[in-house]
Amino acid sequence: GAHAAAAPSPRRVGVMGGTFDPIHHGHLVAASEVQAWFDLDEVVFVPTGDPWQKSDRTVSPAEHRYLMTVIATAANPRFRVSRVDIDRDGPTYTIDTLRDLRAELPQAELYFITGADALADIFTWRDAGRLFELAHFVGCTRPGYDMDASMLRNIPEDRVTLVEIPALAISSSDCRARATRGEPVWYLVPDGVVQYVAKHALYRDPSQPSGVA
Ligand code: ATP
Ligand code: MG
Repeated sequence: GAHAAAAPSPRRVGVMGGTFDPIHHGHLVAASEVQAWFDLDEVVFVPTGDPWQKSDRTVSPAEHRYLMTVIATAANPRFRVSRVDIDRDGPTYTIDTLRDLRAELPQAELYFITGADALADIFTWRDAGRLFELAHFVGCTRPGYDMDASMLRNIPEDRVTLVEIPALAISSSDCRARATRGEPVWYLVPDGVVQYVAKHALYRDPSQPSGVA
């Protein structure tokens, strides 16, 4: 018939930024919970390029972090990985991430997903005031970090939602420290990531002889 179809509702797209050095189950649970909570069509994981706030330590090469993120998300049809931050020169700023994704998906509603610690830092981010024009912000609970009303003071009320997710006291820092000490990371990160870390000897203490597990 000649009837016009009802206008489709805009795609709802989650954006999960991170260093992912390595990606772990805390990241994956946060993305999955927010996907379900907001009925998102997809969640795009965006590994950072040069993480300017982590210049105090050596970050693994972007290509390793990208591939671990691909391995960890490959089985979920609603997850994908974007190279926008890796392929952009210079330090990564979330404002650029959101602008690039908006250019790629002009009709989409973007939901930027952060843990409580990252949300607390938001006003140290470049162009913080502009961020809320580009995306809705979703703050996920994270063990060890309080999310109180005072830190949301400056965020427009209709642009942020706090979501309580199952508590996983997992961090990439702890995973790296374990790998360096030769302790297990099984079940903290996906199996494929355990194998990738071992295969490429990531996080090994260079002063230790290799081959000793
Ligand atoms: P690092 O210890 O190197 O800082 P990380 O575990 O904090 O690593 P990031 O890549 O820095 O991981 O975090 C990416 C995003 O995921 C941030 O918004 C962070 O708050 C969130 N996040 C990380 N781990 C958890 C977790 N266990 N629960 C909820 N959110 C998390
Ligand atoms: Mg972190």
